[in-house]
Amino acid sequence: MTHHTPTPPVRGCGNTPILKQRGQREVFCGLTGIIWLHRKMQDAFFLVVGSRTCAHLLQSAAGVMIFAEPRFGTAILEETDLAGMADAQDELDDVVARLLARRPDIRQLFLVGSCPSEVIKLDLSRAAERMTQAHAPHVRVLNYSGSGIETTFTEGEDACLASMVPVLPETDARELLVVGALPDVVEDQMLGLLAAMGVTPVRVLPARRSEDIPSVGPNTVFALTQPFLGETTQVLERRGARHIPAPFPFGEEGTTAWLAAIAAEFGVDAETFARATDAPRARARKAIATVAEGLRGKTIFFFPDSQLEIPLARFLTRECGMEALEVGAPYIHKQIVGPDLDLMAEGPVLSEGQDVDLQLDRARASRPDLTVCGLGLANPLEAEGLATKWAIELVFTPVHFYEQAADLAGLFSRPLRRHGILKDLNGGVAGGAMGRATGRMAPAGEEGSA
Ligand code: SF4
Repeated sequence: MTHHTPTPPVRGCGNTPILKQRGQREVFCGLTGIIWLHRKMQDAFFLVVGSRTCAHLLQSAAGVMIFAEPRFGTAILEETDLAGMADAQDELDDVVARLLARRPDIRQLFLVGSCPSEVIKLDLSRAAERMTQAHAPHVRVLNYSGSGIETTFTEGEDACLASMVPVLPETDARELLVVGALPDVVEDQMLGLLAAMGVTPVRVLPARRSEDIPSVGPNTVFALTQPFLGETTQVLERRGARHIPAPFPFGEEGTTAWLAAIAAEFGVDAETFARATDAPRARARKAIATVAEGLRGKTIFFFPDSQLEIPLARFLTRECGMEALEVGAPYIHKQIVGPDLDLMAEGPVLSEGQDVDLQLDRARASRPDLTVCGLGLANPLEAEGLATKWAIELVFTPVHFYEQAADLAGLFSRPLRRHGILKDLNGGVAGGAMGRATGRMAPAGEEGSA
């Protein structure tokens, strides 16, 4: 072991049999990713080719987060398009031409497919190629699917990043590429830690602006900051880049282990590593210990949703003293989450995919202290007296690396505390209408109409 890598348990979850079930699923669609991606990529525009439902999803979910002029919109497919009566491609060309004429700040345009565009088999990759030719060199047009048919909401980011990889410039340079959209302030902390370890140059995907788009090639090594980037990993490997397997940078241990894997790759000596990480590690440990008080000994059950479940369960069991009963994830890519599985002690049921009714039965039978699930399941479970945490908040909140480790623990301790207070108020019975806010606000976003 080098660089203070965490000690694995005697028996980890690496070889635990995985319960695989397929049935009705309760998840958001990949359009959700636009909400954080449009904030990250400052000169990109996301044009959803979809229905009014898609427009409403984006506007209501993202309405709370728009500070500047919106950088997403919806080209709405009308019923006539769905029936194949209109030439949707021509309409789409018009919408894009008008948008780009009005918004010269747009350098990257993503045509985002949706359920209706899949249903009518609209070829968005052909449209993207055609539009790239028409608007080059100022604008690059790419496409990906955010459709909710058989996908989960974090796959939107995966599909978006994967769509960028084939057109990244080629390089022979030995470079570290960090992959996954992080809030700028968190990304800066990460870059600061890597710089203190002497690891340079570091590129990030997605880049904040199109001029900083990274190159890729056979000497690129890449580390993921998000566990849901399976397709992006594959396309990067196809470009010759090599993945550095590591636990994900959640919590003090996860962050240290993630940095240690990079340090080992770049030959950083133990002294330099300690100099870069000792102080923030100590700070993180102390901050987590305070927040984790309310989590110690509590049980947790993860429904599959964000794909962050396995690394989070590792953090909560190892660093916050929780006991995981079931850790459900939409997909379990061992290449990606294997290091986290190895660190998590044997015990929880590991499940992949979902048959929601069977899983609800298991949750009800085990009565976890906290259930992590999607919005659709949270209210019914709360009504049955179970404390819940919305998985989607984990993706909207800065949770990576040392300085956010205690905030991450806080995301789990708060619902437990609130549940306890409500229980006291109700004379020992939790449940009933909780009056949770959905964050719905006035519409925002830019609409076209195809
Ligand atoms: S992409 Fe599909 S699931 Fe998502 S909002 Fe549109 S119609 Fe609904």
